[in-house]
Amino acid sequence: MNRYFDFNATTPLLPQARDAWLRANEKHWHNPSSLYRDAGIASQMLEAARERLGDLLGVDAGRIVFTSGATEANNMLFSAFAGQPTAISTIEHPSVREAARHWTKMREFDARGDIPDAALVSVMAANNESGELLPWRELAERCREKGIPFHTDATQWIGKLAADFGACDYITGSAHKFGGPKGAGFLVLRDENEQMRLIRGGPQENGRRAGTENFPAVEAMVTALETITPQLASCDDSGRNALESALRAVFPGLRVISAEVPRLWNTSLFVMPRHENLKWLTRLSRRGFSISTGSACSSGKEGSSVVVTALGATPEELRRVVRVSGGWETTKEEWLELASAFAEAGAELDAEANARANQNPMA
Ligand code: PMP
Repeated sequence: MNRYFDFNATTPLLPQARDAWLRANEKHWHNPSSLYRDAGIASQMLEAARERLGDLLGVDAGRIVFTSGATEANNMLFSAFAGQPTAISTIEHPSVREAARHWTKMREFDARGDIPDAALVSVMAANNESGELLPWRELAERCREKGIPFHTDATQWIGKLAADFGACDYITGSAHKFGGPKGAGFLVLRDENEQMRLIRGGPQENGRRAGTENFPAVEAMVTALETITPQLASCDDSGRNALESALRAVFPGLRVISAEVPRLWNTSLFVMPRHENLKWLTRLSRRGFSISTGSACSSGKEGSSVVVTALGATPEELRRVVRVSGGWETTKEEWLELASAFAEAGAELDAEANARANQNPMA
C-alpha cells in the first residue's frame, strides 16, 4: 500500500532512471569537454540525450540548455530580460515570481484576461498547488500574434500530461517531478542561436551554462521521461475524484479549490471544514500518509499563501488548506484509503476538541 501523496513536491526515482544514472556513472563518467575517445563518447551521448528530450517536447534539440533544475532555468530566463517589463500570472511558483521581481520590471496579470504589453510573458502550464491547468497554448498563440515572447514553466505538466510544447518560445522543466533525479532540469530557448547565461565560467552548453555537464543526471532525466510518457494515456482523475467524493461525504462543507477549472489528474487542494492543516498533516503522517499544506518550496512562508489566495482561498481558509497529489501508479483503493485516514483523523481531532471544550466550558 503506497501512502505517499506528495508527488507535486517530488517523486521517487524510477528504476529505469536509476539504471541509466548508474550506467552513465560507471561507463561515461569522463568529462565531456576532454579530447580523448571516452570523453568524446560521453559528449556524443549527452547530445543524443538532448535530441531525445527535444523529440519528447516537440522542440529542436539545439534550443535546450541543461540546468540544475527548474529554479535555475527560471532565474536564467529572467536574468536575460534584466531591467525590462515582464508580465507573469498571479499564481506562478516563487522561482518565477522572485526571479522576475529581482531582475525585471515585473507585473502580475490574470492568465484568463488580457495580455499586458511586456518584453516577456510567463504563465505556468499547470499550477503546483491546485493542479489548475492554464491556457498556455492559447496564450502562446496570442503572444505570437502580438510579437511578445512567451514562456511557460511546465514543471508540473511535464510527466503528467502530453508535452507538446512546440508553440512556446521558452519552456522550463525539472527531472525530479517525473521520476528523474533531483538537481536536473532544463530551459528551452527561443532558437538554436539565442545566447543567454546566468552561470558564468567555461564554454559548456554552447556558452549558455558553465560548469562540467552532469551527464548521468541528464541521461537519467531523459530516460525517466521516456519511461513515463507512454504511461500517461492510462492516467486519469478517477482516483482523485473518488477521494474528493468520499471526503465530501464525511466532511460536508469541504471546499475543493480550482474544482471549476480543468486540473491535473493527480492533484487536489481543499479546505477542511475544521481544524488546522498542520493537525491534519500530523495525524495523517502518524498513519503513514504523506500530504502537504502547500508547496514544499514555500511552506510556512509568504510564497505559498500568496498563490493559494490568488487561487481563491480566503485568509481565514488558508490555515485549513491541504494538498494531496498522487502518482502514476496510485490506485483507486489507495486514494480511498487516504479518505478513510482523513475520516479517522477527523474523529480523533473532533473528540479532542470536544474534550477540551468540556474541560474548560468557559473558554
Ligand atoms: N516551478 C514549479 C511549478 C514547481 O512546482 C517547482 C518545484 N516545486 C519548481 C518550479 C522548482 O523546481 P526545482 O525543484 O527543479 O528547482
